[in-house]
Amino acid sequence: MSPAAPDLGRPQPPISPLAIGSHGGWLEDRVNPADGACGVSGYPCRHPGVDVAGAAGTPVVAPENGVVVAVADGVSAPFGGYGPWLVVLQGDSGKFHLLGHLDPYDAGMAPVGARFFAGQQVGTTSSANHTHWEVRRSPVPDYASGEDNFSNNVDPLSWLALAQIGAGTILVVGGSALLLWLLYRK
Ligand SMILES: [Zn+2]
Repeated sequence: MSPAAPDLGRPQPPISPLAIGSHGGWLEDRVNPADGACGVSGYPCRHPGVDVAGAAGTPVVAPENGVVVAVADGVSAPFGGYGPWLVVLQGDSGKFHLLGHLDPYDAGMAPVGARFFAGQQVGTTSSANHTHWEVRRSPVPDYASGEDNFSNNVDPLSWLALAQIGAGTILVVGGSALLLWLLYRK
């Protein structure tokens, strides 16, 4: 793990320091690099996650404490387009983190059922030079009822900001309680 990584167990981006790749922001307009089109062949016109930059071989870590609930090669439904390897982690917050474009060489690093602390490595970037990070309400949108990767997903950076505030609040409240105890104990 990179020495620059934030504390183990604390909510954090999958790669630190956080750098968003070009055209990799939440809801940015996208076209298929192959044909310049979008909205066909399942290629979305907007980006349902963020691309966190990291040259091939960069460790990709769990954004929060959680359990791996799915892995796949990203070729077929319901996880097509996220290859050559992806990991879905169910975080303790209840959200699902999809980390795509990982190197299949490290596919054994995060098997289904394995538990990770935030900051522990679950994969490695591939030659895509980034990981595609989605934060989902459910692991797969309920397509039959009209849900998609936009109604099912939330902005990963907004999720991260709130999660870090939550972790900080616990520290502040805990610290205050300790201070009061120190002040008022006999
Ligand atoms: Zn992406």
